[in-house]
Amino acid sequence: MLARPRPRLQLTRSLRDHVAYRYLSSAPAITSGSGDVLGRRVDKKRLVILGSGWAGYPLARKVDKKHYDVTVISDSPNFNFTPLLASTSVGTLEFNNAVESVRALPHVNYHQAWVDRIDFASKTLACQPTLRYASRQPHQQDDALSYNTVKREELQDERLPVFTMEYDILVVAVGAYSATFGIPGVKENAHFLKNVNDARAIRARILECFEIAAMPGLSDEERKRVLSFVVVGGGPTGVEWAAELHDLVSSDIPRYYPSLVPLISITLYDVAPHILGNFDSSLQAYAEKKFARDNIRIRGRRTVEKVEPGWITIKEEGRIPFGLCVWSTGLAVNPLVAAIKEIPKGQKGATLLTDERLRALDASTDNKPMRDVYAIGDCAGVAGGPVLPATAQVAQQKALHLAKELNRAAKSGDAYQPVPFEFKNRGSLAYIGGWQALVDRTSAASGLKGGNAGRMAWLIWRSAYFTMSVSVRNKILIPTYWFLNWILGRDISRF
Ligand SMILES: Cc1cc2nc3c(=O)[nH]c(=O)nc-3n(C[C@H](O)[C@H](O)[C@H](O)COP(=O)(O)OP(=O)(O)OC[C@H]3O[C@@H](n4cnc5c(N)ncnc54)[C@H](O)[C@@H]3O)c2cc1C
Repeated sequence: MLARPRPRLQLTRSLRDHVAYRYLSSAPAITSGSGDVLGRRVDKKRLVILGSGWAGYPLARKVDKKHYDVTVISDSPNFNFTPLLASTSVGTLEFNNAVESVRALPHVNYHQAWVDRIDFASKTLACQPTLRYASRQPHQQDDALSYNTVKREELQDERLPVFTMEYDILVVAVGAYSATFGIPGVKENAHFLKNVNDARAIRARILECFEIAAMPGLSDEERKRVLSFVVVGGGPTGVEWAAELHDLVSSDIPRYYPSLVPLISITLYDVAPHILGNFDSSLQAYAEKKFARDNIRIRGRRTVEKVEPGWITIKEEGRIPFGLCVWSTGLAVNPLVAAIKEIPKGQKGATLLTDERLRALDASTDNKPMRDVYAIGDCAGVAGGPVLPATAQVAQQKALHLAKELNRAAKSGDAYQPVPFEFKNRGSLAYIGGWQALVDRTSAASGLKGGNAGRMAWLIWRSAYFTMSVSVRNKILIPTYWFLNWILGRDISRF
């Protein structure tokens, strides 16, 4: 039977499209031009952005589509709002609160693919789609998209064909991978927290651990083993995840698994003596005291030797059992960055060096800047400048600066006067659980200086991330879920 027409929806759609076209962008229709993008003739410069993270996504949003034909190529179909991932991994927020679809960006083309090779001479990219013809079980799809767990060989049989893409201007914003320091078993047996797929896997495993521990016939020792939650890495990500997990086990788990509460342990390991190494020492001490009160064990000066299924070997302590191990020990070089020989590298080969206008340097011309290649975000660093932290703050500031410069260059033509990038430190934030946070503005570039810890800092933490959330949908959903979960508790359904 034929579906009945839905005139009202169509009217709404065309109205919405009209509004989006009329007010969000006044891009002219693409009719003819000098370039070819996958069969489309374009009359604007083809700006290709590699990556849809904190660097690539804001750039794609802000660059003027009147002047540039923008294409994003990223193996992730989303922008991951990383500061909220820990909250989603325990159910404080829902997964869609921490992502924005790249496809939803108006007047931006998107292809879900890895860029394997860049030919700077011919200005072309070799792209391998990360989608398969055949459908997969959901957990297998997650694997394919997740950082460090990508199994490219699996794609061989049914992969979509490699395609090449030409660019006029290229921006490399592919970020970095999670560091494992070559420790055996980390990739196979620990969980990373880099994107929403990782957060989903962590949440499913936490709840699974409680279901396992609730099975009849287990000894308390066996239950303790599976309720041992281990975090490796005492930076902001590891600390925030431990804090969020503590919130879950102190406020929601007692309602559903009251007898298991005394058997739960949360342990954080780091090689450094203290957690939150980049924060002011008074704030570090505040967080450590709070964790001690919450019974989150901090084990500093510890070296992980290997991770096996359900066991982590610590040099100083021996084999420790775990139900879930979350690994967050910093960054490793992205394979694409490692493969690029034309651009000189900084930070032990992990970053592509740029000038202060964020143009990639050309190793073959004595490190003069390339004309139309830029690098921003975790995969880039300014040659001769201070080494900036690999944070969303730096990545976003570089992206917004570059968008502004590209827009000015297109508008001003020959009169264009470039402005170098300058990082403005706005301070650091970390959530430490129980509606408490740290705000470190001791090195802030402007405004109030100093540190703040506790409830007021938590309000600043929440307002900062609420303000930074992107879509209207998430601006409504994020406070709604915060409120709902406060009133009703976190959702513990597993899927
Ligand atoms: C859990 C967590 C919490 C964090 N919290 C904070 C915080 O509170 N404040 C803060 O300032 N920073 C925070 N950070 C750090 C911050 O997220 C990173 O510094 C930031 O994401 C870097 O942005 P980026 O765009 O350079 O890289 P990413 O955000 O990592 O994006 C890289 C993009 O490139 C894509 N990609 C990778 N390789 C390829 C390829 N070969 N081809 C095509 N696409 C590719 C990836 O899919 C991804 O879309 C946090 C990080 C994590 C993991």
